[in-house]
Amino acid sequence: MSRIIHRSLRSTPPVAASAEGIYITDQSGKRYLDACGGAAVSCLGHRHPDVIAAMHAQIDRLAYTHTSFFTSEVSEELADHLVAHAPAGLDQVYFVSGGSEAVEAALKLARQYFVEIGQPQRTRFVARRQSYHGNTLGALAVGGNEWRRQQFAPLLMDVGRVSPVYEYRDRREGESQDGYTARLIAELEAEFQRLGPQNVIAFVAETVVGATAGAVPPTPGYFRGVRELCDRHGILLIADEVMSGMGRTGTLHAVEQEGVVPDLMTIAKGLGGGYQPIGAVLASGRIVEAIRQGSGLFQHGHTYIGHPTAAAAALAVQKVIQRDGLLAQVRTRGEQLRGALLRRLGEHPCVGDIRGRGLFMGVELVKDRDSKAPFDAADKVNQKIKQQAMANGLLVYPMGGTIDGRRGDHVLLAPPFIVSEADIEDIADRLGSAIELCLGRAAR
Ligand code: PLP
Repeated sequence: MSRIIHRSLRSTPPVAASAEGIYITDQSGKRYLDACGGAAVSCLGHRHPDVIAAMHAQIDRLAYTHTSFFTSEVSEELADHLVAHAPAGLDQVYFVSGGSEAVEAALKLARQYFVEIGQPQRTRFVARRQSYHGNTLGALAVGGNEWRRQQFAPLLMDVGRVSPVYEYRDRREGESQDGYTARLIAELEAEFQRLGPQNVIAFVAETVVGATAGAVPPTPGYFRGVRELCDRHGILLIADEVMSGMGRTGTLHAVEQEGVVPDLMTIAKGLGGGYQPIGAVLASGRIVEAIRQGSGLFQHGHTYIGHPTAAAAALAVQKVIQRDGLLAQVRTRGEQLRGALLRRLGEHPCVGDIRGRGLFMGVELVKDRDSKAPFDAADKVNQKIKQQAMANGLLVYPMGGTIDGRRGDHVLLAPPFIVSEADIEDIADRLGSAIELCLGRAAR
């Protein structure tokens, strides 16, 4: 019996023994194609020589130092690199160790900014249903994933809530895409008005929704509408790109495709590609300057912020992505993945939707594609498919969002950026057979 408190307390997962490229091998010697990069993390795959070399060199020089005494060359270089490739205006970086910490830091930077500029009455955040922003209590409060929140109510903050962008389920019959988008923006405005816009700190949203809904992109113009509305009321926009960022959707930051610049943006996962735990907040200089001019101290901090070895790993990962032109590769392979999934699963009666951007794709599973009726939570469809996929030697990320109070099912695919065209066909095939084994075959 394992002494580790695993996510499921009733079972112990297989023991991973080694990894190479896009494959992980367990203790029994079974190989798994890692089609979700863990949780959309392993963007370069495993054992990349450049990253290993950079980490060795850094550990040899300086593994760790605490930021209350020193900064380090490597974390400064990483910050310069991130700012050089960030949307204009996001020119300050706060390093942390992961996604939830990044969200917490962004919420606190936003809150402190308004205190510093003399608007302390702004205490409210607005976020969306069916969203995930992390598992720490602050991040859980902004997240809209009810099944994760239920057991911890009342949460630390009472957050205003609006609908996510979820065209597949929420766009009404006969409604144009622009009309649907306008309806979502009107709903956000109504929520700001309900809370009093002068009381709102920020609107928090994932640019492309990841774990709770399975790679759901925004409709065209949605984020431009959000940005305009936030600007009109002096409300900040926080883009959570912990999952969808760092190249996953085919541009370094998913917001680049929306033509907007958020005030704060969280990144993690693909930043360090899994070689080290690292996350960051990219912040508008205006916010940081206000704090600098005010109290001069961001009231935050963790032991491992700016960790030199983590920074070395992340810097190496990011340099490889640039040097090897991997963003273009994500776009090409992403379209191949969409095509392969459509060919293999597009006609399956239980596949409701195949969606996503770049190498960030979701497959939504339904009882019946005409009515879009979700499976019952008790059926645990996404877990069954995950297990069957593992039996087929494939790792996919299973999740159930909340649809009309019930859990819907999807699997998320987020393979490393180095996948080949043959790997893509292999992924679609192994997933297709796992779905057929769990839910039956499509009539052909
Ligand atoms: N934000 C988003 C959008 C995420 O997808 C996640 C994790 O999946 C987090 C925050 C939390 O990140 P972490 O698990 O590194 O704390």
